[in-house]
Amino acid sequence: MQTTPVIQQYLEIKASHQEALLFFRMGDFYELFFSDAEIASDALNIILTKRGQHKGKDIPMCGVPFHSAEGYIKTLLDKNMKVAICEQLETPKEAKKRGYKEIVKRDVVRIITPGTKLEESFLVQKENNILMALFFFDKTWASCWIDISTGLFKSTISNESQLLSLIDQISPKETISYTNKKELSILKSYTPIEITWLESKKNFSRDILIDYLSSFFDPERLQKLNTGLLGSISLIVEYLKKNKNLFLDHFDIPEQVELSNIMTIDPSTRKNLEINTSLDGEKNLSLLGVVDKTCSLLGSRLLKRRINAPSTQIDQILKWQKKTAEFYNDFQLTEQVRALISKFPDTERSLSRLIRLGPNPRDLFSLKIGMNLFFELKEMLIHLEENSINPGNFFEDNIKKVLRELELAIKEDPPLTMKEGGFIKESFSDELHEFRLIEKKAYSDLLEMQTKYSQKTGIKSLKLKYNNVLGYFFETPISHKDKLLEEKEFFHRQTTANTVRIKSISLDQLEKTTFSARNNALELEIKILEALHQKVIEISRDIIILSKKIASLDVCSTLGFIAEMHNWCRPLIDNSKDFIIKDGRHSVVEKTIFTKSLNAFVPNDCSLSTDEHLWLITGPNMAGKSTFLRQNAHIIILAQIGSYVPAKQAKIGIASKLFSRIGASDNISKGQSTFMVEMLETSNIIKNADDKSFIILDEIGRGTSTFDGLAIAWAIIEKILRSNKSRTLFATHYHELTEIEKTNSKVKNVSCEIKEWNDEIIYSYKVVEGKSKGSLGIKVAELAGFPGDVIVEAKALLGKLQSKGVNQEDIHLKEEDFEKERLIRVKNKLENIDLDSITPLEALNILQKLKSEN
Ligand code: ADP
Repeated sequence: MQTTPVIQQYLEIKASHQEALLFFRMGDFYELFFSDAEIASDALNIILTKRGQHKGKDIPMCGVPFHSAEGYIKTLLDKNMKVAICEQLETPKEAKKRGYKEIVKRDVVRIITPGTKLEESFLVQKENNILMALFFFDKTWASCWIDISTGLFKSTISNESQLLSLIDQISPKETISYTNKKELSILKSYTPIEITWLESKKNFSRDILIDYLSSFFDPERLQKLNTGLLGSISLIVEYLKKNKNLFLDHFDIPEQVELSNIMTIDPSTRKNLEINTSLDGEKNLSLLGVVDKTCSLLGSRLLKRRINAPSTQIDQILKWQKKTAEFYNDFQLTEQVRALISKFPDTERSLSRLIRLGPNPRDLFSLKIGMNLFFELKEMLIHLEENSINPGNFFEDNIKKVLRELELAIKEDPPLTMKEGGFIKESFSDELHEFRLIEKKAYSDLLEMQTKYSQKTGIKSLKLKYNNVLGYFFETPISHKDKLLEEKEFFHRQTTANTVRIKSISLDQLEKTTFSARNNALELEIKILEALHQKVIEISRDIIILSKKIASLDVCSTLGFIAEMHNWCRPLIDNSKDFIIKDGRHSVVEKTIFTKSLNAFVPNDCSLSTDEHLWLITGPNMAGKSTFLRQNAHIIILAQIGSYVPAKQAKIGIASKLFSRIGASDNISKGQSTFMVEMLETSNIIKNADDKSFIILDEIGRGTSTFDGLAIAWAIIEKILRSNKSRTLFATHYHELTEIEKTNSKVKNVSCEIKEWNDEIIYSYKVVEGKSKGSLGIKVAELAGFPGDVIVEAKALLGKLQSKGVNQEDIHLKEEDFEKERLIRVKNKLENIDLDSITPLEALNILQKLKSEN
């Protein structure tokens, strides 16, 4: 069987879009063929059928309805696939005009990939959707990242370890690079990023890159960029162009990020500290979950970016902090500002959709609301020193001019699309008013006609109706059919099971008048909307500034609000190496305890400085060591985004890097054992930390044998003291390490206090000076209901280990060892009995239990 012309056309188009699933428009459906159909039917759980044959084999096919395609596309994008949308570029009628056998022209109008999504339903509202380009040049990495759904566009130069942190910090949805860069395979082995490889025959010389980019950006500004950056920008441009998504004339060259201005947080630290999600993946139980009480989506996205990239620059931090303080000091104003911002639409994404997907009434209306609220906010903040908005007269004039037009033209709550009309106010155009009058008049004539016909025929149930196939018609129950058709004026159009439908010449005429008035009105509405759209696009840079101002106000007022609500304090920030916290708290644990109505959170002090920069924290399980470590790391992050911190008082010298190694984060999927991961992460810390860094280490070395672990932990501490000199909190079970304090004045032993009372351990969660009394592991086992004989044996072994160390022969227990432990156990139990308060029966029971256990 010969290949049909449609399949031939499909194959030609598919040949240049191998990387994406081709959604091939056929009437009301998008059809997928061959392997695309197999992949999509599996991913979307839809039926796989076949259509004709190619080279003697059935062609697999599946399809999705055009009107509900968005949901299917979203599923594919979420599974990291790409979709090429191939549309019909003419109607079948137009095709036939060209020749009897011609098929409709089709072509790909857009390729949607995970990093180039624009539709609201495809995007996560509170997150940026980043496409990142990596370009290796002159032994460094140039990277450039863009969120085409909001307009964010940045770039930087970095070394490999910085790049890994950066990728983790901005978490791109899609990463692109040119093929055959062997350096990228190194990256791939460290991060789980998927890279799209672009073929390029380009010679990456500086001149060629500048020449290529000059049609999109200001050539003078391009000249100032280094060749690596030009390469990464050209990657982005090329990719967006390929996806038919390029309207870069609305972009300036990317903002250049200086990485030393941002606190370095490596990937495992970000995860361990539960900054964006808890280790179980819960957003609410993360640091961001506690502070993200922003009122707008713009603010929420900015806060997420900021908390993932705290500043290391004192001027910047103090500037943010002052803004926060101004809101903190006027809670009433803060609440008013937050109430206004909560009405603020997502102007960033509305603008991006308008720029890249064309005009639509709903987004223009959103911009109108945003602009109005902007001026209201400006008025409200006019008297403030830090947070008043002063973008300049030129900016304001631009916005006001367009706002006026939008107010005059766009109806309240307009429809989503332009299809049906009804989005422009009649009062905006006399002509539109005229068309609407004609339409209304024709419609009322139609209703009059219904009354007239009903009277004339005596059929009360005769009704004027409308559908897309017949247009306007009159309908009666079928029982009136004969009577109705007696009237010469009427002609029959359709009979259904229960009704009969007729038309008349005068109805036809009125219908024509209505339709033409409606069409004229729609055409005019679209023309007006397109003109408005153009004006909005012309001031897109101003709208971007406006959105940024609101996002920043939202973040600062939210931080002020949280500080007041949770009783946080304003930290004193400087460039010293101090970290002095009075009554610090862990905001997430505090929240959890509060929700579960447990006891109140116990605040703790911490005091590190150049003179004493390593605290060694001992204490049994569950005593609060990890909480203490994490809370201090959170305090540093919050302080460096200009926030208040959960403490009574805080003095914080800026940290340039933050490291942590906490708990088990096994990486089985990469074939590395827990201990290997622990060692990799720790090695990264001791290689990169310096005296401006802040390190928290939790139970380093526990993944191997006791002596190995102890030796490693000891050596790490010595290394930190000798060369890294970082401020460090080190929690451990190895009590032997507390000896270091005796020989090194930079170390201080502290412990999480516990008390033993009757047979119970009581946690006070207080961090106190000095080492802990013991690890109490056996005590915990006893409380957990271990059988008495196991406890006796464990205690006897512990005694031997503590006195003789681990030696195979000595450690063998003899009967006398057991006997000794049993006697101690009986003695302790007897001592704990209060003879005055127990009954003879209880005494008998205790006696029986003691006998059976020993
Ligand atoms: P460790 O690291 O010593 O095993 P954690 O820090 O994991 O202990 O703390 C265990 C639990 O104790 C926490 O989940 C929390 O419920 C409680 N906790 C810890 N610190 C405090 C504190 N300062 N105040 C109140 N409860 C605390």
